[in-house]
Amino acid sequence: MAAKKSHIDQRILEANIDKNLIVLLTGNGKGKSSSALGMVCRSLGYNKKIAIVKFLKGLQETGEDAFLAQQPNIQTVFMKTGFTWDTQDKAYDTKMAIETWDAAKKFLSDDSIDLVVLDELTYMLNYRYLDEPAILDTLNNRPQTQHVIITGRAASKGLIDIADTVSDIKDTKHAFRANIKAQQGVDF
Ligand code: ATP
Ligand code: MG
Repeated sequence: MAAKKSHIDQRILEANIDKNLIVLLTGNGKGKSSSALGMVCRSLGYNKKIAIVKFLKGLQETGEDAFLAQQPNIQTVFMKTGFTWDTQDKAYDTKMAIETWDAAKKFLSDDSIDLVVLDELTYMLNYRYLDEPAILDTLNNRPQTQHVIITGRAASKGLIDIADTVSDIKDTKHAFRANIKAQQGVDF
């Protein structure tokens, strides 16, 4: 244990670079958006300014939407359409995705914002609603002091490559498969 502690202490000493991060939360398991919100809470504790852009707004209002609306340090933008299997309208969804990305781009060029969350962004690239090179370029050229969190399943190689931290959340088990419906305060 002493050797292990000394190794860890040494690694902590070596990790002395301060850098704005891209954190990517992907995979099929539950916990991507809620992890992003955990980091939003951490940032709020230090009085940081936060922007949250939600692509693919779900049909269900979430508890966090109600909570975040009361926070003066948070600005939230919702994509005006929720992609659903019933109402696929590629042209309209693409237009809405581009509009939402335009809002995200404003945040990603505003150095007064400390943290930008791009919730469910991965789908916009996978469905080709948005152009990946342009997104990667904007992310690379954001203010030096700004952290970004991206969530969504099946993150593209481009996003994985530019991210500093990538967590691939594994779906070991989900209550839904045992016919348990989504639970208030846990799932929404
Ligand atoms: P959360 O918002 O709970 O962190 P998430 O962002 O990882 O979840 P999404 O794909 O955005 O996952 O889906 C959000 C909703 O879908 C939540 O209600 C979540 O419980 C549910 N969900 C997530 N993963 C699964 C899964 N593998 N099977 C069924 N439902 C899921
Ligand atoms: Mg999510």
